[in-house]
Amino acid sequence: MLLDQQQLDFSVEMQAKSYSLLKWVGKSVSSGLLSFQTAHQYSTLPLAAADWIDKHYLNIPEAARVDPADIPVFANFFSTYLENSFDLIANPGKIKFSPDAHCFCPMCSWMIDAPNLKTKSLSTADKKRALRMQIHSVLQLGIDTGAKLDESRAEAIVSDYGEATALLAYGHDLIQRLDAIANGPAVLALWRRFAWKSSGSPKPNFRLSTKMILNAESELRALVAA
Ligand SMILES: [Zn+2]
Repeated sequence: MLLDQQQLDFSVEMQAKSYSLLKWVGKSVSSGLLSFQTAHQYSTLPLAAADWIDKHYLNIPEAARVDPADIPVFANFFSTYLENSFDLIANPGKIKFSPDAHCFCPMCSWMIDAPNLKTKSLSTADKKRALRMQIHSVLQLGIDTGAKLDESRAEAIVSDYGEATALLAYGHDLIQRLDAIANGPAVLALWRRFAWKSSGSPKPNFRLSTKMILNAESELRALVAA
């Protein structure tokens, strides 16, 4: 399916808010404003996240707050954000105010570590998986637009248009994340392909927009049709 602008707008917003929420939690944990002593019983991260966000709704700053009706889908997205991008370091001893008495439900386990979460390091397998996602999205574009495209042509397009194909694959992944589908650190590899400079550092002030993704899709559409 070709990307839908409205769905992408929503996903990009969920992503920006996930980032803001995690930053806010990190600050609040460090300053002792959030405590984790209530025991919760949740089996999955999205369920735990939805309830957690709901309970803290009024404290959550505007930049990280979604419409109450969107909390379940935001919680889905937020959980993929944690799983794709960060390693959870279980070390409750770091928290001064509750050394060993905090809740170990999936959400509290993540949140208590928010100030110390480590960005995942990417393996060769993650980078290969990212390439597979790029190739797949180009092949899919061929199918969706009725273009005849074989695997080797798709591979050639990915190798010549790494940034555009990473944006396209990332766009499709963003929409899957609304359903709590986490494709893992390969997604972080896609992100770096367009949000980082080739020298290996983040582009200053980079901000993902729907327009970037849709522009990539139409650029690739022309190539696929050629
Ligand atoms: Zn908990």
